[in-house]
Amino acid sequence: MCSYREENKTHQVKMERIRISTNSAKAVDDYLDYKRIVGEDDGGKLFTPQEYEEYKKQVLPTRLQNRLYVSWAVPTGVDCKLIGPETQCFCTHRYKQHKTDFKEIPEGRPIMLPCRVRGCLCKSYHYVPLNGSQPVRCRCKHLADEHSETGQFKCKKCSACCGFHSPFTCGCGQPTFAHEMLVETKEERLARGRPVGQDVPYAAMGGLTGFSSLAEGYMRLDDSGVGAPPVDVLESSGTVMDHTFVKAYGGQRQTLTEGISTVTKQVSDLRTSEEDDMAYFERRYQERLKMEKMAKQQKGPSSTGKLPSRTSTQTKK
Ligand SMILES: [Zn+2]
Ligand SMILES: [Zn+2]
Ligand SMILES: [Zn+2]
Ligand SMILES: [Zn+2]
Ligand SMILES: [Zn+2]
Repeated sequence: MCSYREENKTHQVKMERIRISTNSAKAVDDYLDYKRIVGEDDGGKLFTPQEYEEYKKQVLPTRLQNRLYVSWAVPTGVDCKLIGPETQCFCTHRYKQHKTDFKEIPEGRPIMLPCRVRGCLCKSYHYVPLNGSQPVRCRCKHLADEHSETGQFKCKKCSACCGFHSPFTCGCGQPTFAHEMLVETKEERLARGRPVGQDVPYAAMGGLTGFSSLAEGYMRLDDSGVGAPPVDVLESSGTVMDHTFVKAYGGQRQTLTEGISTVTKQVSDLRTSEEDDMAYFERRYQERLKMEKMAKQQKGPSSTGKLPSRTSTQTKK
């Protein structure tokens, strides 16, 4: 009892500190960027600034070049589900807990994305759709996590089941079992006429290519989740993603690492979920809209991609 109350109190103090610290918004932002870049690769123990720099130097070039796009779909239809870092696998672990970085893209198809959680036998990421907020059931009436994560995916609760098989009808009108996991290279995805989004340094992006990616296929405004930005934004020298990319490569190294060390403890218990991913991309999208507005207003030669602190007032002379 006592310890619970103590814990609760500490939590409130943490929240308070986040609110009053002057640089905290930026520090939290930097920390979230760190988490999205490093993912699970630090084994839960924060990299030192040097390790972080080294990690980025080693991993980012191949990550950007060898990104794999992961979706769940009836291959001839829309992408029903674009997999994000937090999207659960049949094995109950998240996509980001699977192998997602490849120094070299394997020759064979399908490309296997094995789970990296110790003791888990999952050989490759596999999405299980939700019915509302509930995971769908097998025809044997048991849930996915009551089945073996390997082999024939047989049920551990009954002997009648010869492998997980769900008749649940997806939003696209097709039954679950008609869908496939698609793990594609950039070229393969483009060849199928699907957008690939912009290059980002983040880990385990799966199929996410835009802010609406996590909505179900039939609910997205387009069939991909990416909305093409207008030409003047693409042509301006600093897009939001460029900004992120520069930052990832250490453009603001000093503040970045400082910020991380001060804020880590405060936000280490923040939970992430698919909703957070959605919010994150929504925020990026709003930033992009802001950039578009600016690009239209400015049209100047020295657009650096920086956001103005105030849009309504003129810059000081
Ligand atoms: Zn697993
Ligand atoms: Zn898995
Ligand atoms: Zn079953
Ligand atoms: Zn069963
Ligand atoms: Zn579907």
